[in-house]
Amino acid sequence: MRIFDPHVHMTSRTTDDYERMYAAGVRAVVEPAFWLGQPRTNVGSFLDYFDALLGWEPYRAAQYGIRHHCTLALNPKEANDPRCAGVLDELPRYLLKDSVVAVGEVGYDSVTPEEDRVFEAQLALADEHGLPVLVHTPHRDKAAGTRRTLDVVKGMEPGRVLVDHLNELTVGMVRDAGCWAGFSIYPDTKMDPDRMVAILKEYGTERMIVNSAADWGRSDVLKTREVGEAMLAAGFTDDDVDQVLWRNPVAFYGQSGRLHLDDVESGGDYEGNTILRGTR
Ligand SMILES: [Zn+2]
Repeated sequence: MRIFDPHVHMTSRTTDDYERMYAAGVRAVVEPAFWLGQPRTNVGSFLDYFDALLGWEPYRAAQYGIRHHCTLALNPKEANDPRCAGVLDELPRYLLKDSVVAVGEVGYDSVTPEEDRVFEAQLALADEHGLPVLVHTPHRDKAAGTRRTLDVVKGMEPGRVLVDHLNELTVGMVRDAGCWAGFSIYPDTKMDPDRMVAILKEYGTERMIVNSAADWGRSDVLKTREVGEAMLAAGFTDDDVDQVLWRNPVAFYGQSGRLHLDDVESGGDYEGNTILRGTR
């Protein structure tokens, strides 16, 4: 089973996790820029974080045979802090970088006018840079937040929009809008593997994306693999699993033209790669 985790915050995980992920079949990840738990107080704090997502983290992932990409944005929560507003001026030069495969996570947290403004501005940036968009949906009042989110992204080509953190209540409206549907599988909140399988049975496997969204909270980097196993147990084929856990995220983020999966897809031996020796 080859796995692409399209949303995982590896910065907050240990190398043990990289080892376990590789053993489970994870060969590539996307790490979206997000809130760090401790609020940032200045723009420089974001830039150091972006640089870590572009340099240090891909290097660390490569030691364990995993390709690392990222999405960059001013996250919805910190969009409300005027000290962070200047990030929008810095983003254009960061969005040019080679391993940035989307703008994200953008969207709503508390649905404030500031979040509206920052969301719109970043959709425009995605458009200018020819990048797809990863959209976070709020955890409180998810249905209303998702409806409003879909209204905001209406002007974009739906195939370039991934709306994430969906559940049974919100999947239908995202499917109707034609956007990609993302699901975060957690140990005890939001989606679990069996609920995910039920959704796949009802809606099919097209434009469906599953992630662990693992971060510094209670979460599990192997939830993608668990979904694959639950799918097989429920009668889905290996090809269905490959579509959901590999080909779909590759198709979505591949729109950036910046996915680097050559060694992984050719089945080449990563161990012999120069990256392992730290030349990148
Ligand atoms: Zn996230």
